[in-house]
Amino acid sequence: MEVKIGDVGPVGSGSTINNLKIYPYPIPPGEGTNVINVSFPPILTKGEKLKQKISYWMNRMGLLEWTVWGEFVPPEEDSSARCIFDPLHYQATIYLSDEHPEEQWDWSVVHELLHLMLSPIDAYIDELLLHTEKREQVVLDSHKEPIVEAVFNRLCRAIVGSSRPRLER
Ligand SMILES: [Zn+2]
Repeated sequence: MEVKIGDVGPVGSGSTINNLKIYPYPIPPGEGTNVINVSFPPILTKGEKLKQKISYWMNRMGLLEWTVWGEFVPPEEDSSARCIFDPLHYQATIYLSDEHPEEQWDWSVVHELLHLMLSPIDAYIDELLLHTEKREQVVLDSHKEPIVEAVFNRLCRAIVGSSRPRLER
């Protein structure tokens, strides 16, 4: 049934002005096919945002053979992000501090993904160290982490385009 403005029709019957149907609130079921749906971007949880960020950088860095999870952990004194990975099964978990600001997630995610990307070199160095004398092994091993971290931080700056936020491991 069509009613003109000013007519009093049954609840939910609607009215027509210039081919636009005006509905009383609420719109009755089955009516309102010409109603414009305004959609908003979904509101993501913190965990979903991190998942999205990890997936974005994995794609950009070509780490598609890996499965990487993201988890938030209570803040630790010496780092805001760390990663535990299993290069044999291409699985890793990136742990971000609960208090790590969102604008620095890119940096931390890229830094941790670099650990995955370069894990074959890491394994190669470890293998070489196994074949050196114990005393030299200790000295060489102590140099490895600072060198790797310094290189990763420079690569991060080049990839993400911002400077180092806080100590990363
Ligand atoms: Zn690191």
